[in-house]
Amino acid sequence: MSLIENRAAVGPLHRHISLRAEEKILPSVNEMVKTLRPEEPLHCVRPGVISNTAHAFSTAFNGDVLYAVKCNPEPAVLRAVWDGGVRHFDCASISEVQLVRRLFPGAEIHFMHPVKARSAIREAWMLHGVRDFVLDAESELAKIMQELSKPETAKPDTKPGLFIRLALPETGAAINLSKKFGAEPEAAIALLRAARPLAGKLGLAFHVGSQCMDPLAWRDAMQLSGEIIRASGVRVDVLDIGGGFPVAYPDMDPPPLGAFMAEIDAAYDALQMPGLKLWAEPGRALVGGGASVVVQVQMRRGHMLYINDGVYGALADAGALRFRFPTRLLRARATQGAPDAPFGFFGPSCDSLDVMHGPFLLPDDVAEGDWIEIGQLGAYGTCLRTAFNGFDRAALVEVSDRAMLETAGYELPES
Ligand SMILES: *Cc1c(COP(=O)(O)O)cnc(C)c1O
Repeated sequence: MSLIENRAAVGPLHRHISLRAEEKILPSVNEMVKTLRPEEPLHCVRPGVISNTAHAFSTAFNGDVLYAVKCNPEPAVLRAVWDGGVRHFDCASISEVQLVRRLFPGAEIHFMHPVKARSAIREAWMLHGVRDFVLDAESELAKIMQELSKPETAKPDTKPGLFIRLALPETGAAINLSKKFGAEPEAAIALLRAARPLAGKLGLAFHVGSQCMDPLAWRDAMQLSGEIIRASGVRVDVLDIGGGFPVAYPDMDPPPLGAFMAEIDAAYDALQMPGLKLWAEPGRALVGGGASVVVQVQMRRGHMLYINDGVYGALADAGALRFRFPTRLLRARATQGAPDAPFGFFGPSCDSLDVMHGPFLLPDDVAEGDWIEIGQLGAYGTCLRTAFNGFDRAALVEVSDRAMLETAGYELPES
């Protein structure tokens, strides 16, 4: 064990102080805001939405579903994903591995970051039962094999699962991940050959990029994977088609889930590799609609609102990436309703980059003290919070509202 206490500047969110941890009633966001009148950002997790979404994805996908933990590692969110039937978790750091193992002793954990610390490889393998590791370079293959064959780590009867991460040509995704990770086709072929004799299970993995709106991206990537597997001449056990499945945002309306699954099923059939198993690693798709953040307006200047959360809080993607999120006004006092107008937001920090241009549509008479619910923040929202400038006092509540925007193909059963 390390003697160094790691500093955790931003840990998991705490439940709002007025709620008992065991409180099981799940009121609505409206009720919450009325009673709590929150002056700090209030993260409203919708466990029912997340469970249903996870269940819908798992039912539609013909293979194992690994939840990509980085997307939202809040324990309340992980429990909802688990309740939706997901038993596999894609972890990228030893802290994520520890967290999932602590919450779910029976979970299958896979270490899917192509570049790992040696100590993380050893700890995952020895203490947490992790057997699968991804890599995209010969040096990482050597690193993994060295760490797993030390006297203190060697398990003579167990070979690791080794997954080769493939780089893809440009897809239509909002965020491309192939510039940072992935072996080019020739290198991937060589890595498959090198890893085969060392692997208990051999896989090929790719990620089309996050918020990918085009089902054909998976077809093309699976076709390329098939060519690489054939060229390698070795048996491959698993094709991991990654994450990237999109969620609805105000100006992004993805094709329904079934359209993605139809392309994936057809591409799988075209491969004609009957023993090949499919895995997927969705993050955003499972949790994007599963949380919102309620912020308070602290000042209004024209059509810019100074709010108490920003790009160093849960709204990072509203900054540089200029994501628009759905917004809804919760008034501090009863006033006449005004027609909607476009607004921009300033976050609470003193940094001029802490600005979100939107535009976000809100009633034109929005005023200081009003609350705004900002939706579709379940993915890459809460987890990107920092403690910058001391604005680190958000709290968490669980509510039973629906998502602020429904993503097609994941509809809740009518209740
Ligand atoms: C981030 C990531 C995911 C999840 O991606 P989404 O776009 O959120 O679905 C899955 N796999 C890997 C390796 C990732 O890095």
